[in-house]
Amino acid sequence: MKILFIGDGQLGQMLGASAISHGHECLLFSTRTNTVKPLSAQIDLSMTLAEAIAWADTVSWEHEDIPADILAAAHDKFLMDPARIKSLTDRRAEKKLFDDCRVPTSPWQTYRTADELKKILDNAEQPLVLKAARGGYDGKGQWRFSMADSPQELAQQAGQAPGIAEHMIPFEREVSLVGARSKDGSICCYPLITNVHDRGILSYSLGAIDPVDPALQQQAEECFRRLTDALHYVGVLAIEFFVVGTDNEATLLVNEIAPRVHNSGHWTMTGANTSQFDLHIRALTGMPLPLLRLEPTVMINVIGAEQIPAGLWHHADTDCHWYNKEPRPGRKVGHVNIRTANRDTALTWVAQWAEKLQVLA
Ligand code: ADP
Ligand code: MG
Repeated sequence: MKILFIGDGQLGQMLGASAISHGHECLLFSTRTNTVKPLSAQIDLSMTLAEAIAWADTVSWEHEDIPADILAAAHDKFLMDPARIKSLTDRRAEKKLFDDCRVPTSPWQTYRTADELKKILDNAEQPLVLKAARGGYDGKGQWRFSMADSPQELAQQAGQAPGIAEHMIPFEREVSLVGARSKDGSICCYPLITNVHDRGILSYSLGAIDPVDPALQQQAEECFRRLTDALHYVGVLAIEFFVVGTDNEATLLVNEIAPRVHNSGHWTMTGANTSQFDLHIRALTGMPLPLLRLEPTVMINVIGAEQIPAGLWHHADTDCHWYNKEPRPGRKVGHVNIRTANRDTALTWVAQWAEKLQVLA
């Protein structure tokens, strides 16, 4: 098949590599430069977007913020209604989808102006997280409100654009579910992954390391099924959850969803017989979804660092991925997957390397 990916960042590159290894052809469309690129080099092809769309059998994406003109032009080549995906770039529509699908999420309300936000803060009975409706990522576009804060000041700051105010959740930990849904409705999910964030950015993920409570996995997959069925989704989608309560009382609240391959699934490039990128290509091209075989793997993000130290490139247990991006504080420029025997070994790797690999803003 011929696949056009919207977006030429690291996710587009990794999707493209997987497409090729499955015998497909691919092109990438950069929404930064508005040019068509081959996978193999950072050069522009003398091909218009319309020509690339006409060339492609199907169009997929690395990020959901697909410009409206592309949505319209490629409409017939998407495997699902892309407007549904685009709507998820607004946190209000995303939260409404959770409520409509009856998947549990933190209580929330919307505001359009600083005045509306101030009223919410004046009446707040507990700490809140404020999130801009559009454009936030890696913890950007978010504010924390605690009872000691001045509603007036924060409302002026955060209320410049519409957003949502949701309860601050005192979670035990954060996990995500990465899985795929095929056109025929079959799904295939990896086990819940434990994710640790630092200042709003994913620092590391523990893939197939923590024993997964079957009840939580079942709850997560039920959420996955409801949300992807509602979206008529085809491909890989990730759900971020908060785990609240402990032991038998533990339950999941959906934080947000990413209708695409996801950073917390990068460990599968090393720790699974079928990576999340392969899974997306399989779902997209109508191949059967696989039986998964997994190996414990910790994924440490490389953030803002100039390079990945040679010691990691040389180590037999590590797979290093460098995105060929200009490093700046807070920017993801690579990741390192490390095969690990257990949680303790994984955390030893993290203790040794996370600080060296991560320059946060
Ligand atoms: P994004 O990843 O798009 O920047 P998130 O909504 O996932 O936005 O928020 C980033 C991080 O902020 C989360 O992973 C979590 O650590 C923290 N966070 C977000 N919402 C809440 C909340 N309601 N309660 C507690 N922590 C939160
Ligand atoms: Mg998130």
